[in-house]
Amino acid sequence: MSKPSCKHCGRDVEENDDHCQNCGIPLPPNHAKERQKNFIIWFIVLLIFCFVMMFWLPPDWSPFVDK
Ligand SMILES: [Zn+2]
Repeated sequence: MSKPSCKHCGRDVEENDDHCQNCGIPLPPNHAKERQKNFIIWFIVLLIFCFVMMFWLPPDWSPFVDK
C-alpha cells in the first residue's frame, strides 16, 4: 500500500496529518481513505467489464480442443 502524497508538492504525508509537513498546505479530510476507495471502485468496474466481455464475446476454444 503506497503512502498518500501531497497534491501540491508531491511529498509523502502521514494518513492522520491535516497539513503537509513540507509546504504546509491543508490536506483534504480522509485523503488516504479516499484514494483506497477509488481503487476498490475501479477494481470492481474492471471486474464487471471482464465478465461482460466474457459473455458478450465467448472465447473460441476450437483450436485447443481439436489438437
Ligand atoms: Zn506539500
